[in-house]
Amino acid sequence: MCAQLSEGKMMSRDFLVVVMDIEAFFDVTFPGHVFGDVVTVGDMCTIAKRYVNVNEVGCIQEEKRACFGCDYKLRGLSMTGDCPECGLVFDYTQAGVEEMTIQVIARTIGMVREKIKRSSRLSGHLGIR
Ligand SMILES: [Zn+2]
Repeated sequence: MCAQLSEGKMMSRDFLVVVMDIEAFFDVTFPGHVFGDVVTVGDMCTIAKRYVNVNEVGCIQEEKRACFGCDYKLRGLSMTGDCPECGLVFDYTQAGVEEMTIQVIARTIGMVREKIKRSSRLSGHLGIR
């Protein structure tokens, strides 16, 4: 099942799921035309960094901040630090948008984060059809 993109490009259902999860996580909507040239994880990170609006309270709402390792709720803590439960580093500032994007991709496709690099190809390499 595919969705029609601008300029006749097709986007697979699994790719759309990844995009929608990233959009939901950051509470943004990316313009559809930007995905035509997305090949790698790094390409996706570039789009996220361009469209995620950052303000003084961080790039996602405090209520939504949770540890990627253990889902511990990070509400009330600073925007960067180590998870009190499992010790995983978190960064909810602009500087952390790229890492958060990769973490969301890993979670969505059920892959260990450490196996995903910026150069990883979303189609094929990561099994996203
Ligand atoms: Zn944790």
